Amino acid sequence: MSDISSKNLTIKLELQEDKKTPLSELMEHSFIPNTFRVFLLKYLTNRLLCNAQLHHINNGIDQSCLCCINNGFLPPPKETIHHLLKYCPGTSALRNFMSNFFVVEALNQLEEDEICVGVNRFSQQKNMICNIIILVFIKFTYQYRRTALINDFNFLKDFIVDQLNEIFTLKKHLLRQVNSLINPNIQLESLDEVN
Ligand SMILES: [Zn+2]
Repeated sequence: MSDISSKNLTIKLELQEDKKTPLSELMEHSFIPNTFRVFLLKYLTNRLLCNAQLHHINNGIDQSCLCCINNGFLPPPKETIHHLLKYCPGTSALRNFMSNFFVVEALNQLEEDEICVGVNRFSQQKNMICNIIILVFIKFTYQYRRTALINDFNFLKDFIVDQLNEIFTLKKHLLRQVNSLINPNIQLESLDEVN
């Protein structure tokens, strides 16, 4: 475990000031569990192992996007997390769902770039909550990109509720604010029971 921490510290120090994004600012919040911090660091430093990265490690591995193949979009481009979050036709319904996820003042829809780098339009606390949900969304996309669950929005909602409960273990009071930031048509109902 200590090896992992020192490695992460090195990666964190490698992040240039000019590469700072609203999402990377989540690293500054110590209450975020380590598993999420590790995932975020891998994302920020382009070390998530999609097929394009796996192909570099082992050129026997096809670098094509399986989500495109599974949904009949041929020829498939390289599978990178950037492709999946911004361009993949196999995740377009998911991206559309996500862009309508929040309803807070002055936020009509999430822009494509905000899904990739996070939002920075609100108060510090609202930004943080929105960006945590965006991080969970990125994790979902990465984890389920090769399955039919990628376009199952009820499954996505359950995933978000579970992950938020885990992330906010030490900050339960912030969970109360989550539903107030979310589109009424999407409401994460199981968060209503939070005390
Ligand atoms: Zn694709």
